[in-house]
Amino acid sequence: MRTWIRFLLPALAGPAVTCAAEFRAGVARTDVTPPTPFWLSGYAARTNPATVVRNRLWAKALALDDGEGGRAIIVTADVIGFPREMTDAIAERIGTQHGFRRDQVLFNASHTHYGPVVRSNLSTMYAFDEPERARIQAYGGRLMDDIVALVGAALADRSPARIECGHGRAVFAANRREATPGGVKLGVNPSGPVDPDVPVLRVTAPDGRLRAVLFGYACHGTTLAARFTEIDGDFAGFAQRAVEAAHPGATALYMILCAADQNPNPRGEYEHLERHGRELAGAVEAVLAGSMKPVRAPVRTAHGIADLAFAPHTREAFEKEAAGTDGAAPTPHKKRRAQKMLEAYDRGEPVRTLPLQVQAIRLGDDFTLLGLSGEVVVEYALRAKGEFPAENLAVAGYCNDVSCYIPSAAVLRGGGYEPDTSMIYYGQPGPLSTNVEEEVFAAIRRTLRQVGAK
Ligand SMILES: [Zn+2]
Repeated sequence: MRTWIRFLLPALAGPAVTCAAEFRAGVARTDVTPPTPFWLSGYAARTNPATVVRNRLWAKALALDDGEGGRAIIVTADVIGFPREMTDAIAERIGTQHGFRRDQVLFNASHTHYGPVVRSNLSTMYAFDEPERARIQAYGGRLMDDIVALVGAALADRSPARIECGHGRAVFAANRREATPGGVKLGVNPSGPVDPDVPVLRVTAPDGRLRAVLFGYACHGTTLAARFTEIDGDFAGFAQRAVEAAHPGATALYMILCAADQNPNPRGEYEHLERHGRELAGAVEAVLAGSMKPVRAPVRTAHGIADLAFAPHTREAFEKEAAGTDGAAPTPHKKRRAQKMLEAYDRGEPVRTLPLQVQAIRLGDDFTLLGLSGEVVVEYALRAKGEFPAENLAVAGYCNDVSCYIPSAAVLRGGGYEPDTSMIYYGQPGPLSTNVEEEVFAAIRRTLRQVGAK
């Protein structure tokens, strides 16, 4: 097979003789700040839209090309999450215009809670009137056009590049699943799993000029509170600006990793955001200042969809929820969720499964980015790295689609916001099935094997 021949050639030719000049890379950015006033996503408790832009929001793209048909585009954006209908449509346009396959384009949303509502993402969180809906629809359309143009600009920017990788460490993320007598609450759990890893990919020109830095961290974009309604990219926006300020002309791209149960700590004030942003930028700078590992061709990519089962549910349960007779306190969010589920039952298509997207971009034997859709809890990253110890893995949630939380078996058993309550705001029927972790890992193994992971 052609891929295997290409894969083996560097080994036959000697140790990585040609690695430095194999890649071409391109990078671009575009301002995706919404017009104000505009509703910000992430907190159901908000009662008014944002009227102030504290810091502008960006979408950025990194295009990698190994010169032999292996190509990948990574799009990052300072928004809460992309719904699948948007990324599918954008990927299709990129496919038509530039000949890219779906597996060659990956989208990651930073999950800032101080960014705009993105079309149907978290659809039952708010009830908008018609003019508001039209504004959200229009912004989503512009965002899609802007990302298509952004990718075109990154592709046009491609030129010979050296790619290297490394890992830093940041510790401001805390596990937020705090056990209380009344069940698991959103708080601070000092003994819960966290992942301090800060993977860094560096792109330099042949003359040594730094062109792009892609970095990631597993932490929610929730440093501030619901009362904060100014547009901002949170600590990740700060960190990207700090890295760019230290390297004029370079573009810093942030990917959120498996951060579903990880909150910044401490949080609540703007000074916390700046402190965390500084810590993350410092972790990246320490990696850039050290010795980084060369990354070689080829670029191999894979993308698949696994249908995860929801726990069984009945029409009667949603009839009661819609009528407020289910024995629990009625809320407008629950009512909207119940109506959505009843409409699905009426169509004869009750929501039984969640399409999870699993994508891998593998660069030589040196660096593998595994991208999962949804708000993925940190245990998935820790277990994936444990199952593939020979891979240099970065595992990101919030890729391509964010339709709900993806709990581990342990988080599902523990209950609380991530596996249960959040499903209301995401307009999903209820918790995923108890087999969710094994279903996800079967898809992860399949996808990683497709790109040659060991
Ligand atoms: Zn979240």
